[in-house]
Amino acid sequence: MTDRKASEPKEENNGNEKSTRPSNFIEEIIEEDLRSGRYDRVHTRFPPEPNGYLHIGHAKSICLNFGLAEKYGGLCNLRFDDTNPVKEEQEYIDAIKEDVRWLGFDWGDREYYASDYFEQLYEWAVELIKKGKAYVDDLSAEEIRQYRGTLTEPGKESPYRNRSVEENLELFQRMRAGEFPDGSKVLRAKIDMASPNLNLRDPVMYRILHARHHRTGEKWCIYPMYDWAHGQSDSIEGITHSICTLEFEDHRPLYDWFLDQLGIFHPRQIEFARLNLSYTVMSKRMLNELVQGGYVNGWDDPRMPTLSGLRRRGYTPEAIRDFCTRIGVAKADSIVDISLLEHCIRDDLNKRAPRRMAVLRPLKVVIVNYPENQVEEMEAVNNPEDESMGTRKVPFSRVLYIERDDFREDPPKKFFRLAPGREVRLRYAYYIKCVDVIKDENGEIVELHCTYDPETRGGWSKDGRKVKATLHWVSASHAVPIEVRLYDRLFNDPNPAGHKDRDFKEFLNPESLETIPRAWAEPSLANARAGERFQFERLGYFVVDPDSTENQLVFNRTVPLRDTWAKIEKKMKGAS
Ligand code: ATP
Ligand code: MG
Repeated sequence: MTDRKASEPKEENNGNEKSTRPSNFIEEIIEEDLRSGRYDRVHTRFPPEPNGYLHIGHAKSICLNFGLAEKYGGLCNLRFDDTNPVKEEQEYIDAIKEDVRWLGFDWGDREYYASDYFEQLYEWAVELIKKGKAYVDDLSAEEIRQYRGTLTEPGKESPYRNRSVEENLELFQRMRAGEFPDGSKVLRAKIDMASPNLNLRDPVMYRILHARHHRTGEKWCIYPMYDWAHGQSDSIEGITHSICTLEFEDHRPLYDWFLDQLGIFHPRQIEFARLNLSYTVMSKRMLNELVQGGYVNGWDDPRMPTLSGLRRRGYTPEAIRDFCTRIGVAKADSIVDISLLEHCIRDDLNKRAPRRMAVLRPLKVVIVNYPENQVEEMEAVNNPEDESMGTRKVPFSRVLYIERDDFREDPPKKFFRLAPGREVRLRYAYYIKCVDVIKDENGEIVELHCTYDPETRGGWSKDGRKVKATLHWVSASHAVPIEVRLYDRLFNDPNPAGHKDRDFKEFLNPESLETIPRAWAEPSLANARAGERFQFERLGYFVVDPDSTENQLVFNRTVPLRDTWAKIEKKMKGAS
């Protein structure tokens, strides 16, 4: 846990003054490096592969990398790790930039591409060949795998391992020139086939791939592998601290080996635990599968853990940064409960979302003693948490809608809302009492007849008479029709990707989206615009979806007010 809130105003730090105390192990390493003089500045990078949209796990990395640069008065680059020509697309690059900016971070003019370094990487590969540290291998991918050995058995040297420098130089040059088909040759580092670390058993540096690259076009038909490209890209950019997730820990000796062989600027790789979130998946491959298979409506579907999905769901950048601060940075993998993320958005929106009234499942109420054609403007508070947000007028009239759930003809014990003969408060309006229940020929309740007490205007009774419930409502003739989309968790299993023999898609929650095509909102919402967020009283936080048109507003529910899910789970645990 850290004591620093990302949402607090950013402090100026010019790098000269002593920083505040380290709040995680990465900051400790950085401060030690600054003390010892290993580096005299902090320069990080966020290196997404443009093969999908960013998700909340990437947000952790973004907040960490940009946050460290900010804290130590340094810089953070945005680098597209575009070494794989087949899966990468401009659409992803644009979306990634939009998301990083939306989260509130700025890479200045430091937008870099690993593909810009292809020529330099090629020259460095030639240098390694000349030093006898790399060779062209004709083994197939399958043979290379077989020769690699296992954790308990050493690998076997390739018969091509001892080619002369001249032969290697010539073959590598011809690989680049396009003389060989895909997969027929690779360039490998010459390290140690008996190393206990499999990553050091002559790792592949280049493969042949006759494919068009989104930036370099047809220029290259050999492409560098991640391990060869990444550290050298860090070095070119003068990165001091190259922060990545734990699965690269075993790659660090290789990261260091390449830099040492070349004798170039040597950044420090530091690994941390990736973010896993319950009830969702966090791999671009799986998210892509959901999009391509039509299980969701695109990368920005509000049920997706992508930043674009969370944005469309109504999440604020402040809430996501707050979440990233709260989860902290550690070296051990864990699964963070998604209710923490939900807590963060509630916390943020509670402070700033204007309150409004809307009725999702309407039940008609006629106030039989209220004059026909009379309309009163009731004064409603915009945000009890923030007086400066003021008040607004909400029209009240003889025919209203209340929530169907707020009435029971035969109320169970702890049901305190409206029932025959019972009096409740209508928020900001009057006390009403149910005097009659009107049903259709099927016995369905179609409307309630109520009386109101004119002495309770504003919602308070002068004689001190108490009621046990306050309901939200809208005036039927003034309300605007809206579409409402209610979301639940995308998966009904806490760890959908964690089952060995079952596909994660088997755990998709069939009820993750419920659409209410016609709900009713108070008239002040008529001019709401896409992206605007509100609290619908008693129902939750909502945001206007970009699907909205002039004639039809669409609202997404970001989160309900209370965490019903946690309650259900508690009950289930108690029962078992
Ligand atoms: P995925 O497994 O979702 O495809 P990735 O690691 O392949 O993720 P990249 O585009 O390579 O995705 O990631 C860019 C940066 O974001 C990397 O530094 C990576 O370590 C970091 N990152 C990715 N996923 C997470 C996560 N769940 N938690 C923290 N950092 C992450
Ligand atoms: Mg990756």
